[in-house]
Amino acid sequence: MKPAAFAYRRAATVDEAIAALQEAAGEAKLIAGGQSLGPMLNLRLARPARLIDIGTIESLGRIEVGDHSVRVGAGVTHARIEDEAGAIEGLAPLAHVARGIAYRAIRNRGTVGGSLAHADPAADWPLVLATLGAAIEIRGAGRVRRVDAAAFMLGPYATSLAYGEILAAVEIPKMHSCARWAYRKFCRKPGEFAEAAAAALFDPDRRIARVLLGAPAARPTPLPALARDLARGGRSALDTERLAEEIEPLVADAPPHRRQAALTILRKTLEEVLQ
Ligand SMILES: Cc1cc2nc3c(=O)[nH]c(=O)nc-3n(C[C@H](O)[C@H](O)[C@H](O)COP(=O)(O)OP(=O)(O)OC[C@H]3O[C@@H](n4cnc5c(N)ncnc54)[C@H](O)[C@@H]3O)c2cc1C
Repeated sequence: MKPAAFAYRRAATVDEAIAALQEAAGEAKLIAGGQSLGPMLNLRLARPARLIDIGTIESLGRIEVGDHSVRVGAGVTHARIEDEAGAIEGLAPLAHVARGIAYRAIRNRGTVGGSLAHADPAADWPLVLATLGAAIEIRGAGRVRRVDAAAFMLGPYATSLAYGEILAAVEIPKMHSCARWAYRKFCRKPGEFAEAAAAALFDPDRRIARVLLGAPAARPTPLPALARDLARGGRSALDTERLAEEIEPLVADAPPHRRQAALTILRKTLEEVLQ
């Protein structure tokens, strides 16, 4: 199928894109890399009257390294993280994550902001950025607000973005040298969306421990009791029965092979952090 007809406009700045959204009064959609929205337009699952292209806004493509965090513009592509993160202090672990997203052709165009805004429950960035304690910068007409990445995604394809707002950047705290983190996912074939995914972080200096389950949960979901055990270095976090109990409410509707995959992936993630 081909998309229904739409008007197209390229915005040169974030303010211009916000003004164009307001002018369209609910009838417009932003397009960044088009790697999720493109198929939805083709299948006519999305039928916006106007598309506002934010793919060439210079400020959205910046990566800025601060003392304690790295600010990644929403328009930074997965491929740029794959290629450049290894040489950027505080971003190095993300190269591996980016490399595991889809295929290079998709990574060349797909963006971090587009992935977060699209909010696929099996996507990589929502889970990883929530685990790392990132904050999401959202711009609307005359205002800027910040939301914890863990609170940004509300459910499958639902976020806290309101119409008229743009996800501008993600601020990722730098990990201390003694911090450990792990991210694992299970896909049937390389390049496919994850059937199961989990991530964990333990930073003894900052006394932070987080454990999150991604797919098949409906959104990246924190597992606070496991995080407390992880912070104590407790091997009890690895007990299979206990893990199954913790994730049961999140995976109850998933088919058996995905429930099993979630259990295995979560266990391996925790093992890696506890090593
Ligand atoms: C075959 C295939 C395999 C894939 N595999 C994976 C995978 O393994 N892991 C994974 O994580 N992803 C995967 N993806 C998705 C891919 O990562 C997309 O790049 C990403 O989901 C969307 O980014 P985009 O820039 O292309 O966004 P677009 O398609 O341009 O936009 C997606 C949505 O986000 C909105 N949007 C975009 N940018 C902004 C912004 N700055 N502010 C507010 N709203 C915005 C758009 O309005 C639209 O609703 C896959 C996609 C395909 C087609």
